[in-house]
Amino acid sequence: MDEVTGAQLIAESLKAQKVEYMFGIVGVPVIEVAMAAQAAGIKYVGMRNEQAACYAASAIGYLTGRPGACLVVSGPGLIHALGGMANANMNCWPVVVIGGSADRNQETAGAFQEFPQVETCRLYSKFSARPSSLEAIPSVIEKAVRTSMYGRPGACYVDIAGDMVNAKVDRSDVRVVSCCPSPPVSLAHHGAITEAISVLKAAKRPLVIIGKGAAYGRAETALREFVEKSGLPFLPTPMGKGVLPDDHPNCVAAARSRALLQADVVLLLGARLNWILHFGLPPRFDPDVKIIQVDLCAEEIGNNVKPAVALLGDINSIVTQLLGGVRNDGWKYPSDTEWWNTLKDKIAANAKISKALALQSTIEGANTMDIGRTMLNNYLPRHRLDAGTFGTMGVGLGFAIAAAAVERSENKNQRIVCVEGDSAFGFSGMEVETMCRYNLPVVIIVVNNNGIYSGVDPETWKEMAKMGDLTSIAPPVTLLPEARYDEVMTAFGGRGFLVRTVEELRSALQLSLSDWERPSLLNVLIDPSSDRKQQVTVTCQEYM
Ligand code: ADP
Ligand code: MG
Repeated sequence: MDEVTGAQLIAESLKAQKVEYMFGIVGVPVIEVAMAAQAAGIKYVGMRNEQAACYAASAIGYLTGRPGACLVVSGPGLIHALGGMANANMNCWPVVVIGGSADRNQETAGAFQEFPQVETCRLYSKFSARPSSLEAIPSVIEKAVRTSMYGRPGACYVDIAGDMVNAKVDRSDVRVVSCCPSPPVSLAHHGAITEAISVLKAAKRPLVIIGKGAAYGRAETALREFVEKSGLPFLPTPMGKGVLPDDHPNCVAAARSRALLQADVVLLLGARLNWILHFGLPPRFDPDVKIIQVDLCAEEIGNNVKPAVALLGDINSIVTQLLGGVRNDGWKYPSDTEWWNTLKDKIAANAKISKALALQSTIEGANTMDIGRTMLNNYLPRHRLDAGTFGTMGVGLGFAIAAAAVERSENKNQRIVCVEGDSAFGFSGMEVETMCRYNLPVVIIVVNNNGIYSGVDPETWKEMAKMGDLTSIAPPVTLLPEARYDEVMTAFGGRGFLVRTVEELRSALQLSLSDWERPSLLNVLIDPSSDRKQQVTVTCQEYM
């Protein structure tokens, strides 16, 4: 008899579905699952909080197109992971969460950490189920992996009864479930493509918007050819940045507000008309703008704005279809139109401001992510991960760990840089221990202004402490002034730098980038009282 345990079945099933990474925190009843995962050839990264573990596993999904697994214990462990599941679902990223739970014979009896986990996860996932037997594990895992990727990607949950982990079954009684292929792709309807092309050709002020769906859909090659053949201006969303390089001549990111406001036709490629794109409505869009909406999720079509043309299907395929239409008759949007001139004028004007800003932001920057979006250029797809659709703070370290794990196995000779505010860092700061433990050479740059949004200087803080109980008088946004986040890193053997000047920043960056063996943290102290300059405030409102 060839017996296999529940833990082995889970691990082997994940591996059979080409799940290559697992992030988690072990404990009763899932320790054996993590061990079996390693034995099956899955890379296991032990994290310090389930939320960060789930962020990391979902980032794997975005970066590789195949979900990462997140392994958690029952009750509180699973509940901590819900933040990561919600974030993954909002971002449309695949992830599979495996949660240990109460033994089958203790259900509803008040078992240790018992919680209605399958029901709870339903609100945070596309699929939530508990295999009823060991024999059912492979097919439930296959369904979870498949569901996480097919249609609109998202989170899936598999609940494992504690007593099933070490229970055994004869291998010959378990049906082998083969690997589910990458999602099938579908083309848009032929007639709709013809219509889209004629709407584009009739446009006076056309604009292509590239969202993170285009990044996830790996549309970069077709999209570059389409943009260059059609001559259309394009605008990336924050995570659409890098699908085409930010310095591409057709990129009009520096004229974002004007482009959005005045475009008469928008080709929307894998971006939702939600808060990030001001709902596609006035006052930020023309009320009569014609949207050509490209999305693989039919339910998304028509949200907030009724599209002039709906192209339902895979972005990469649809862009190739559009390219065919453009290629056939050699049509190209002219580069000498009034629209291009307007956009170029605006870009030139903003370039001056942004040069001034570059100087300011190194010493003053008040909101790391907003400023980072405009100041940090991206040249490659899927190389910028941020707070995303859900606006989640604290995702940075988990994302960086996932990116470093992928980098390590793909060996692209790239460094992972994690730019965070001091408040954002605090949400998952203990993950620096994870980075040190696995020697992940991530460079963390903490832009430290002593608070959430902004704090106070050390002298003011001392004065306040003398005046009374800080819990009554300290502004809620304040954090400990000049906190030594760099020493959090050195505590675990990484490199820490306290940075006060541009010169110190430069040399700390050089030193950390030359170290491939361990992570670094640059604690960049900036003036806590400084706020954005007027121009920067504009970029803040423009956050997309
Ligand atoms: P952004 O944050 O860039 O605005 P969103 O997350 O709002 O992007 O939108 C991404 C959209 O892309 C989602 O509506 C999703 O359904 C869609 N999408 C994801 N992958 C593909 C694909 N391969 N083809 C078409 N649409 C896709
Ligand atoms: Mg801050």
